[in-house]
Amino acid sequence: MSDRGAKHILDAGVLAIAGAVRSGQATAVSVVEEALERVAAADGRLHCFNCLTAESALEAAEKIDESVRRGLDPGPLAGVPVALKDNLCTRGVPTTCSSKILDGWRPPYDATVVVRLREAGAVSVGKTNLDEFAMGSSTENSATGPTHNPWNLARVPGGSSGGSAAAVAAGLVAASLGSDTGGSIRQPASLCGVVGIKPTYGLVSRYGLIAFASSLDQVGTFAPTVGDAAAALQAIAGHDPADSTSIARPAPELMHGLDHGVGGLRVGLISDFLAEVSEPCAAAAADAAEALSLAGAAVEEVSIPEMLLGLPAYYIIAPAEASSNLARYDGVRYGLRVDGPDVETMNARTRAQGFGPEVRRRIMVGTYALSSGYYDAYYAQAQKARTLVIAAFARAYERFDVLLAPTTPSAAFALGSKTSDPLEMYLSDLCTIPSNLSGHPAVSVPFALDPDGLPVGVQVLAPALAEDVMLRAAAFIEAVAPASARGPVRPGQVAQRD
Ligand code: GLN
Repeated sequence: MSDRGAKHILDAGVLAIAGAVRSGQATAVSVVEEALERVAAADGRLHCFNCLTAESALEAAEKIDESVRRGLDPGPLAGVPVALKDNLCTRGVPTTCSSKILDGWRPPYDATVVVRLREAGAVSVGKTNLDEFAMGSSTENSATGPTHNPWNLARVPGGSSGGSAAAVAAGLVAASLGSDTGGSIRQPASLCGVVGIKPTYGLVSRYGLIAFASSLDQVGTFAPTVGDAAAALQAIAGHDPADSTSIARPAPELMHGLDHGVGGLRVGLISDFLAEVSEPCAAAAADAAEALSLAGAAVEEVSIPEMLLGLPAYYIIAPAEASSNLARYDGVRYGLRVDGPDVETMNARTRAQGFGPEVRRRIMVGTYALSSGYYDAYYAQAQKARTLVIAAFARAYERFDVLLAPTTPSAAFALGSKTSDPLEMYLSDLCTIPSNLSGHPAVSVPFALDPDGLPVGVQVLAPALAEDVMLRAAAFIEAVAPASARGPVRPGQVAQRD
């Protein structure tokens, strides 16, 4: 296979790459080499990756080619180059959460999703940058420095899975994994012009995902198209006995029916978000609703005021859970240790030097909200608000098959523009948080370009385990959106426009 052919295949997407490798039209080695070359050429400017695993990627690719030659099944994602968010444990490969506190740590095991991708034939080329412990919306809270948006290098890629989103948007890999606790897959997907799926809580194993807020965290996928993101999700979905919150039934079939259209589908456009977001973001959601209606869906605007309780409730519940989950980083058994005269001083010094400012802020807020005397006023109230959000979704899904909303309040903002104001940064998650609180699936699909030429996504939300219907609506929205609104984009070309 010539260089030229391999380039073409990497851009063709997950399903086309796997098809070509499985049929012997392309070798996994040539596709993976192409991905590694692109990373080498672009990542100096983008900083999508914390760590590359080129050698093991090429070895894995060779094994896939060998199985093709021997007539064995190399898996549904054979030879597909992927990237993994650096909060997913990878055996023997540094896993940092973009935090100093995990300095030098190499996990002794792989996350279930990592094993499943490998078994499906996908080849990981490295670990991607994130906001420290997935706390943030811009990938600027990273101990390794920010990731840049491939559409405009002076803008953020969103976060916290910014490295994974930008790597797909720049065409460095065909798909990637992220995690979404309050929007960390969908928000960067929207800002980078790619598809990002947050599945139903419990559909994908959290075993080996380093915990931020355990009742909200889910692993999901990024790819340039709905079909490709769904194919990657299919490979990682399904019951895992190692995760006690994993749903104990087989994963739904995600791929068939994507092209079945939206005739008769009952769609509710959540009106409450429209007044809260920028004009291009509101217009994208309204235009997608209009297109669905013209195609025969029964579209209605619906007011669900409880949606706006999501953000304040989340910023109590998520820090509360984080304050407990992050108590384990004490310098004793792994990661950073800053010595002191006694154990307590060692613990305190380690945590003070190991955690960045946003992580420390969350631990303090969470500890405060859980402390006696304040628990009822904060944590218990937030849980009540969470219950109201869940009940409101339940009522809405009696009337609608899917809901539609903007993904984000704005397109990609300038690097540095929100770093001094944490509350402003928190608002980025306004439209994504409610489905984390309810555990329902949601997907962001690229839909439009704003006046600055930056991508804007639209969000489709669905009831638990209704990923198939959600993805069908998403595939329709993708089909009517202009191709110019989605990645991959070449970071070099975009940089010249800056
Ligand atoms: N941006 C949100 C936060 O900072 C969501 C993060 C996430 O989904 N991991 O908490």
